Amino acid sequence: MSSRPIIAGVVFTLFASLASAQDAKTVIAGASKAMGADTLNTLEFSGSGADFAVGQAFSGSSPWPKFIDKTYTRQVDFRVPSSKMDRIRMQGENPPRGGGQQPVRGEQPQNQTIVVNANTPWVQQLEIWMLPQGFLRAAAAANATVKAQTIGGRKYNVVSFTGQNKAAVNGYINDQNMVDRVETWIDNPVLGDLKFEAAYSDYKDFGGVKFPMHIVQRQGDYPILDLAVSDVKPNAPVTIQAQGRAGGPPAAAAPTSPTPGAPSEKLADGVYLILGGYASLAVDFKDYIVVIEGATNDDRANAVIAESKRLIPNKPIRYVVNTHQHFDHSGGLRDFVAEGATVITHEAHKAYYEKIWSAPHTLNPDRLAMSPRKPAFETMTEKKVLTDGNHVIELHHLQGSGHNEGLLVAYLPKEKILVEADAFNPPADQNAPVLTPASPYNLNLVSNIKRLRLDVQTIIPIHYPANNRKVSIAELNRAVGDQGTK
Ligand SMILES: [Zn+2]
Repeated sequence: MSSRPIIAGVVFTLFASLASAQDAKTVIAGASKAMGADTLNTLEFSGSGADFAVGQAFSGSSPWPKFIDKTYTRQVDFRVPSSKMDRIRMQGENPPRGGGQQPVRGEQPQNQTIVVNANTPWVQQLEIWMLPQGFLRAAAAANATVKAQTIGGRKYNVVSFTGQNKAAVNGYINDQNMVDRVETWIDNPVLGDLKFEAAYSDYKDFGGVKFPMHIVQRQGDYPILDLAVSDVKPNAPVTIQAQGRAGGPPAAAAPTSPTPGAPSEKLADGVYLILGGYASLAVDFKDYIVVIEGATNDDRANAVIAESKRLIPNKPIRYVVNTHQHFDHSGGLRDFVAEGATVITHEAHKAYYEKIWSAPHTLNPDRLAMSPRKPAFETMTEKKVLTDGNHVIELHHLQGSGHNEGLLVAYLPKEKILVEADAFNPPADQNAPVLTPASPYNLNLVSNIKRLRLDVQTIIPIHYPANNRKVSIAELNRAVGDQGTK
């Protein structure tokens, strides 16, 4: 075969990409002019709507749980660049359904400040670069390309550049020269390469600057923000101060351990508590290790794996018990799968994990992405008992929990220990005033303990109190007060 057609092909590709880059500059300039991006240095917009907690759904087939954003204001300084968001949130699901620290009591002020410097992760900058004018600014500074695309009968110029995380950032510019939608992909320890999308509609003119009156952000097919914009101030004076590290007392001295961030202590013969913000249990079965709740993210999972193997040497981790599919409890499960452990969870979660774990993890490959293997599951419905004749771990489904459809607790009858996730998250201060009415999730746990006749002395909350204190059943009983006896 002659080499001529190959050379012709190379030359053609070069011309095509030059043309695309030149066209992109024209398209970006046209949209920037139409949207007033050229003269826009700062921006303040406000409104109201709802936000939604990613990874905290009631089930694998329900949307992220909703919180009311009574007020929402975002300031942006494109020159720094920086951004500040202030909002007042309220409970959105009644009765509470799903996670995300429900129920929110009354009005909860929240804020987020981003001042971009050389070390600011790309994902944190996206609230700036995914805004319509932010996208055009970022695209103008990048080596963007453009292609024409028709979607649902509507014609778009799709402008693309590569984000700092190596994922494409695509902006869909409509025939009015408005940015209709921006999409990119970010890493999520559970969902892998996760599509993050912002859709803009109902554009209005504010002194030559066009801004959408409706913003919907989505991650993983479901909304994470749905905002009705009511006020826009182009070039408003903004004061966005970089925030130092959050204050507060230093963490209590923890037992030392060779695994950084995963201090451990022996609770009973062959039963070890691994702390470090989240709690895990490692149990020394005759031929293997059982880990109860090993996961939050990849780093945490690998620290728990290392500490479990140090505490219980020369045995494999055969099982990891997963309490439920919320991402702060399933974020490192894939690392246990890579370690060779079988995942024990409620049957409601198996199909969900099989589906989401087949997604690519190219942006931040974890252990399972680097050495793939088929995940092994053992599922349960209401009760499952793990035993080697000596140790006994009873797993029970919390019936009627609004937190998650397949929420499990682990009960160690000999040690009278109950391991639970999100059914009771003890307050930082055990003497803090009791909140009324009691959390429906706390009440549900109490009624399940009664139904199952569990003789609980010690509770191991997966979200362990920062002072690493022992949590007794008395703390739960105090939290529910009189309501627990009804
Ligand atoms: Zn949860």
